[in-house]
Amino acid sequence: MKTPQISIIAPLYNESETFPFLVERLNNLMDSVQESIEIVLIDDGSRDNTAELMQALALTDERYHCLFLARNHGHQLALTAGLAVSKGSEAVMVIDGDLQDPPELLTEFYPYLKQGYDVVYAVRKQRKENFVKRSAYYLFYRLLKSIAYVDIPLDSGDFALMSRRVVNIMNKMPEESRYLRGMRTWVGFKQIGVEYAREERHAGESKYSFKQLFNLAYSGIFNFSEFPIKFVSRLGVFSIIVSLIYFISVLIKKYYFQEVIEGFPALLFMIILFSGVQLFALGVLGEYILRVFFQSKNRPLFIIKSEIHNKEFVE
Ligand code: UDP
Ligand code: MG
Repeated sequence: MKTPQISIIAPLYNESETFPFLVERLNNLMDSVQESIEIVLIDDGSRDNTAELMQALALTDERYHCLFLARNHGHQLALTAGLAVSKGSEAVMVIDGDLQDPPELLTEFYPYLKQGYDVVYAVRKQRKENFVKRSAYYLFYRLLKSIAYVDIPLDSGDFALMSRRVVNIMNKMPEESRYLRGMRTWVGFKQIGVEYAREERHAGESKYSFKQLFNLAYSGIFNFSEFPIKFVSRLGVFSIIVSLIYFISVLIKKYYFQEVIEGFPALLFMIILFSGVQLFALGVLGEYILRVFFQSKNRPLFIIKSEIHNKEFVE
């Protein structure tokens, strides 16, 4: 297969139920556009038969380049692997493998690239998830926007079309803790958001565990903001000022008004409060140190067990 113009990347973790529908939608899309497209599917250590389905497909259809990771590395690293091997000379589109991000939007995104945009990202104008999840996402994106040092767009995930040069730059970014939508914004150039209605997951449950979701939110905050550490140091200054004011008021009470100073419960309360504040501060510091710790190991970001490219199996 000659070098494709566009790569479409989808990570899959236990998506065998959706798989046939995903492939059908992708095949229809490829048949309906003029540009040459390769599909990069990444099996993120699935425990169901997703890998077998991918294998059967890629051995018969050269448009599919399949990666099989050595274990479950998580969505962000699976995507990182996909971006690393993608060959699309003009652009790369990232979608979820559960059909929540309609691949057909490629035809809507692509013209923007031709107009000189380097990143066309999808903005969710409505979500079909439950109220608690929707509200959590809503608040998180607004919090992140208000504290991040790059202008990370509201309500947009990894679903986007990126130019080859943006992908090349992202591939060179060695950070271990990856928040791709933030990294994509960080790269810069001309970027534009396009609204879309996020579909319901085609089948099955969300493959993001609660812990993974939390980790993702933490990477957003700690990788793209200095706010937590600044907040802690301001909190420290604030409590020093409050304690000084209190100390002076005690002196005045004792020596000017000759009052007896009492306050055992207050003392206890203060000790408990400030032990809490100190542990919180240590935790914030710890988040940054953890990131330095993991980065300093310099391990590869993901391990590819095998791949099928041009209908050939490579181990
Ligand atoms: N995914 C993955 N590895 C994981 C978890 C998820 O590759 O450890 C994939 C999953 O198969 C899907 C995409 O990442 O294609 C988005 O995950 P999911 O739909 O579970 O997330 P949600 O849409 O609920 O945020
Ligand atoms: Mg999903």
